Amino acid sequence: MYSDSNKNQLIECIKTLSSEAIHMLLTLALRMIDVENITITICPYCGSEEIVRNGKKCGKQRFLCKSCKRTFVTTTHTILSMSHSPASIWREVVSDTLQGHAIDYTAERLGLSHPCIFGMRHKFLLALQDLIAADPVLLSQVAELDETFVLDCFKGRELPSEINRPARKHGAKAQKRGISNEYICINTGVQRNGGVVAEATNRAKPDKSELTQVYEGHLQDSCLVLCDGLKSYNVLKEIAKCSIQDIATVCKEEENFYHLNTVNNFHSFIKDRYDFYRGVATKYLNRYVTLFTLAWQQSGTILADLCSKLFTPSTTNYFYGNQGVKKERLLII
Ligand SMILES: [Zn+2]
Repeated sequence: MYSDSNKNQLIECIKTLSSEAIHMLLTLALRMIDVENITITICPYCGSEEIVRNGKKCGKQRFLCKSCKRTFVTTTHTILSMSHSPASIWREVVSDTLQGHAIDYTAERLGLSHPCIFGMRHKFLLALQDLIAADPVLLSQVAELDETFVLDCFKGRELPSEINRPARKHGAKAQKRGISNEYICINTGVQRNGGVVAEATNRAKPDKSELTQVYEGHLQDSCLVLCDGLKSYNVLKEIAKCSIQDIATVCKEEENFYHLNTVNNFHSFIKDRYDFYRGVATKYLNRYVTLFTLAWQQSGTILADLCSKLFTPSTTNYFYGNQGVKKERLLII
């Protein structure tokens, strides 16, 4: 049991440790306390503030909501729910994911298995898609819309029978030259000094219905859309009162304004990340595309922002289990 003499003994013990050992001890101690430091102010089920402490469950503080009579813990509805890893480890996984590190790198650094980090990364990516969907990007003023193409990828599984070609080795090029059906099209829209909308829909250049799927609800009336002249973009006039300018038809003096440099810059970022990962399994591509949109715009406060949103209980449920990782929002084309 705790007493002053125990405490003095502990302090004496710590004094004999090397600075590395003290650092390790401190990290472990911080991991133990960080989840308990989250302040709970509302019931994650009904949003009521009428909550009281109600004992502990598996070492976590439990609360009772006086309005809906349900009980919850500090991690209910957060991505930490049901997880064996504390918030400090999740923070490291989120940070590495934003910086574009490989799963194996994070696994080795944190002393955890590849499947464990894979599960955590995908639970984070799914929650990220929810977070972005809850506060949709609205492209306004001047927006550059274009497409970029990445090679399809069947990482971690056998090549499906309908794919009529031998498997590609890591880093290998496409079999056919130019944009063939080995490529997946990512539709990208970037507002100059503003938000980003991106989604992979299919293999070929986007048709009207695919562009509607990507941009509906994301274009403000009066937005000036710059594109490269692909006819299907005209459909955007049906979903918003925007104007569309084909940059190929402007005169030389106007090229300083009518260009697609911003969106092309985003394409280079996507390609760099994609090559670094040696491809992303096509079925998971849109989870990563969401990450790319955020990482490209990354500001100094984004990690803290995301962690506070995803680690604090709210009425939005950001928790995904292993079944969610396998089944939710896959790109099947
Ligand atoms: Zn409640």
